[in-house]
Amino acid sequence: AHDIPIPEIALNPRRGGPKNLPIAEYLVDDGDSEEQARQMAKPKLVVLGCGWGSVALLKNINPENYHVTVISSNNYFLYTPLLPSATVGTLELRSLIEPVRKIVARIKGHFLQAKAESVDFSAKLVEVSQTLPSGETRNFYLPYDKLVIAVGSQTNTHGVEGLKHCHFLKCINDARLIRRKVVDNLERACLPTTTDEERKKLLSFVICGGGPTGVEFAAELFDMLNEDLTKLFPKILRNEVSVHIIQSRGHILNTYDEALSRYAEERFARDQIDVLTNARVKKVEADKILFSQKDEMSGKIITKELPYGLCLWATGVGQTEFASNTAKQLGVQKNKHALETDTHLRLLGTPLGDVYAIGDCATVQNNIASNIYTFLKQIAWETGKDPEKCHLDFAMWRSVASRIRKRFPQATDHLRRLDKLFEQHDKDKSGTLDFQELRELLAHIDTKLTSLPATAQRAHQQGQYLARKFNKLAQAGPGMMANEVYDGDLDAAVYKAFQYKHLGSLAYIGNAAVFDYNGWSVGGGLVAVYLWRSVYFAQSVSVRTRMLMAMDWSKRALFGRDMMSF
Ligand code: FAD
Repeated sequence: AHDIPIPEIALNPRRGGPKNLPIAEYLVDDGDSEEQARQMAKPKLVVLGCGWGSVALLKNINPENYHVTVISSNNYFLYTPLLPSATVGTLELRSLIEPVRKIVARIKGHFLQAKAESVDFSAKLVEVSQTLPSGETRNFYLPYDKLVIAVGSQTNTHGVEGLKHCHFLKCINDARLIRRKVVDNLERACLPTTTDEERKKLLSFVICGGGPTGVEFAAELFDMLNEDLTKLFPKILRNEVSVHIIQSRGHILNTYDEALSRYAEERFARDQIDVLTNARVKKVEADKILFSQKDEMSGKIITKELPYGLCLWATGVGQTEFASNTAKQLGVQKNKHALETDTHLRLLGTPLGDVYAIGDCATVQNNIASNIYTFLKQIAWETGKDPEKCHLDFAMWRSVASRIRKRFPQATDHLRRLDKLFEQHDKDKSGTLDFQELRELLAHIDTKLTSLPATAQRAHQQGQYLARKFNKLAQAGPGMMANEVYDGDLDAAVYKAFQYKHLGSLAYIGNAAVFDYNGWSVGGGLVAVYLWRSVYFAQSVSVRTRMLMAMDWSKRALFGRDMMSF
């Protein structure tokens, strides 16, 4: 079978689709072997993007079942969790990337370095654009049988003015630009022509956003300042350099366990990293940041200024242009932050089983809470009570919860959260809860449920899930008995719904790390650092990247970082 050449993708002389563009298709050879005919009949799986979600899918898909084509603006997979380490030269940029063609070649698929512009869901065509060095763009259509949208996210600007002066940390080029800027600022600070005021500004590093990306960048910067600055830039005194984190919430790492975020704050206070909490950036000017902060004593909001030499903007993720246009086109999509899918990861509003969305660009519409509500209503009717007038006390809730747990084992964690809310409610009120109040509590839980974290962990699990399901679908589809498939839902007939398993959160905080797993949290020095490193080391995509990372870590330990702007 492997002697048969993989059909190439080429432009067909035929044009078509709503924009009458050329259509790229698999070239059919004139050969007439049975194997060739079988190859040509395989469904076409088109994957948009080559990040965490797509790569997990590509690594698990059975190439015997599909013709796979990957379309992505960049031709490498980026190992994002260690990207902050590349901004100061702890790791080299090339150690964090893996050529996607290697991954695609293993499954005998195709790769097109191009941008997905839009999708015609009824004609099953993706509009793809290629930009030439002259700036001219050429658009064409690529047909699909199954489409997976995994285009990731972009930095959330929150509508703040002046972000053109900031650096971002999303892609490899961002890390390269930050590294160059850090070294440039240190070099300029050493020049005899630099005034004291300029020097202070050049050596002020400001990070907007106290989430894992901002915190890890601050930690890497801190390590570099302590380990290499005084040796390589003796003219700069350590206390002349300042690192500030502006965080809109009350704590940094606020999605982690409270004890861990406190641990990180204490560590940063000891390391003289200035953490400004309850502070909101209003505007970024060419040389200073304007932000408002609540005064702890008076409670008043005060506007402050902070001069900077480098400002990193890392305040969460927003939708890419492609994803937001797709959501608008579909109409049924209600979520403003991500493309909504059902629990089988099928994009809402598209024909069943054609289009899937995974990773940062997608959110799973999860109805566990409303299921629980329906179930409670049922129980109320069963026990002869009018659900709208029924009052639950905590003991009654517990017995109801145990029945729900049996029916929805996936809701265990959420039920535990509800237990806490009920307990609290029981203390605050006279011990009962009516259905309106219950509805409000469930709505609160539902909001929490739909916002699964935008992490590599989730994207990876979703990519793996889709590959496994597609492998099953390819086997089961044609021979499936009609009575096994309800409402034409083949996905549900062959495979379970997607269920996210949280494996914990990690963050590096400068010669220490915090690790949070299901209420089990570790914050510590060297042990946690090695735990942090080994987890990412084990997860990194190839032996090649593992070797490169190990070499970079050893090189840094022996010779220090390369402080050059190139
Ligand atoms: P991505 O990995 O972002 O991939 C999207 C792909 O789509 C890219 O290849 C992009 O080029 C391509 N693309 C975009 N638009 C188009 C288009 N129109 N046409 C074609 N291709 C397109 N998560 C963790 O779990 N743990 C961590 O420690 C962690 N640390 C992080 C540190 C940093 C600095 C950053 C930036 C992120 C970190 N994350 C971490 C988050 C994690 O990287 C993302 O959640 C993950 O990358 C999402 O995977 P994805 O496949 O959805 O998208």
